Amino acid sequence: MPKTASPLPSNLLPRSEEELAHMPASERIRYRLVTADRRFHANDNIAAFLREGEIDELKAEVQAKLQEVLRALVIDTDSDHNTNETAKRVAKMYLDEVFRGRYHPMPSVTEFPNAERLNELMIVGPITVRSACSHHMCPIFGRVWIGILPNEHSNLIGLSKYARIADWIMSRPQIQEEAVTMLANELQQRVKPDGLGIVMEADHFCMHWRGVKDPESAMVNSVMRGAFLKDANLRREFLSLLSRKNQN
Ligand SMILES: [Zn+2]
Repeated sequence: MPKTASPLPSNLLPRSEEELAHMPASERIRYRLVTADRRFHANDNIAAFLREGEIDELKAEVQAKLQEVLRALVIDTDSDHNTNETAKRVAKMYLDEVFRGRYHPMPSVTEFPNAERLNELMIVGPITVRSACSHHMCPIFGRVWIGILPNEHSNLIGLSKYARIADWIMSRPQIQEEAVTMLANELQQRVKPDGLGIVMEADHFCMHWRGVKDPESAMVNSVMRGAFLKDANLRREFLSLLSRKNQN
């Protein structure tokens, strides 16, 4: 994870455990992140800085703040039965579902050596992914294809694990280009292939629901590493196989 460049703010001088215990969970976690000089952007995973029970504390905090947002929107949540429990529902949805990739550690993935010495292009996908844009917190729905060119030293992971790692990275407020790079870094580090190619095609609901309201706009981007960068034939083979899959 990249480090922050900014120095420690003066209001974050060392505090005692007792003082920390009296702070809201979000402040406590922020304190640990800042003192460890760790970045905590929307798409960073901060699971290592959370202690047991703190996800529930965060949920209660977020619920209270969302209740204030509804109040500021002049919605009568007391008599409107539809919005009665909305703050609670949305807080739960953020922490347990759509942004869970920030607060939970990476799903466990078993790697096994490439005993068969597979060295042919392997394509996984399309993997359906769900995310939200960091700019508007609007949903992103998309598909990801992963091309791997293993070598004899690569660690292989089960096919379903690609989807689990992708889901973990996408379940955060994201920017599509950064999400694809994060996924590439994670797979490069685990699988150690000779070549890695990732293509993501996604619908950004901030383009449909607001702004230009263009129902057709989709965004496609890709990352190519190693042999996929150097070998145009390999890159072509990968892209042609996925465009054929796309038509099915
Ligand atoms: Zn957006």
